[in-house]
Amino acid sequence: MDKPEQQVPVADGTVPETPRTRLVAIMLGPPGAGKGTQARRVEAEFGVPHISTGDILRDHVARDTELGRQAREYMDRGELVPDQLIIDLIADRIGQPDAAEGFLLDGFPRTLQQAVSFEELLSQKKLLLDVVVSIEVEDEQLIERISGRYLCRECGRDTNVAGMDSLPETCPQCGGELYQREDDRAETVENRLQVYRGQTAPLVDYYKGKGLLREVDGSGSVEEVTGRLVEVLEGG
Ligand code: AMP
Repeated sequence: MDKPEQQVPVADGTVPETPRTRLVAIMLGPPGAGKGTQARRVEAEFGVPHISTGDILRDHVARDTELGRQAREYMDRGELVPDQLIIDLIADRIGQPDAAEGFLLDGFPRTLQQAVSFEELLSQKKLLLDVVVSIEVEDEQLIERISGRYLCRECGRDTNVAGMDSLPETCPQCGGELYQREDDRAETVENRLQVYRGQTAPLVDYYKGKGLLREVDGSGSVEEVTGRLVEVLEGG
């Protein structure tokens, strides 16, 4: 992306007003579009962490924290967790040292309120949003991808079993135990898609209006989509 030259601390040791960021990007797209898979593949390339609100919430649920207990009922129904809980979670996460030079957001923001609060957080931190990528996939393909998706309890990566003759016994990447997300079951998936269309899809127009939106075709192989995504992230 076109970035200003890195600012160095001035002679009196004060920190420059606008820190250089490598990349601040949002990945938008319906459940099953491949946001998490793709963000994990490109995070190292851009040297910024992938931040998934869904992963953070699932970790809280697994550890049975107060936040996990509050979030769980919404997640199991495929509904959105209340905005304020998510905004507090993101404020905390992007305040961590590894996020000082940018991050790739996956699954956030999901409502207009979250988008507006995020802008306030960014301006407090003197960061700029570079790009919002919308990964576009047909509904039929989304449902196929979600219903074949299994996660690993050890490494958190997903394996898609669609097209395989039988479910692999363990994670092909690390040998950990595989499980299906509660909210990936067919009963909940349709609700998640409706929630996306009703509450999150309007963000596509919101960011289009700000000139930040780039659409990426999410069909085809994982590698093909990564190629398109990297091009967009590099080009701004
Ligand atoms: P994901 O892994 O991104 O599909 O998220 C799984 C679930 O976590 C969602 O269906 C919501 O219940 C909850 N969640 C994740 N991110 C958010 C968010 N930004 N706002 C509200 N709820 C969220």
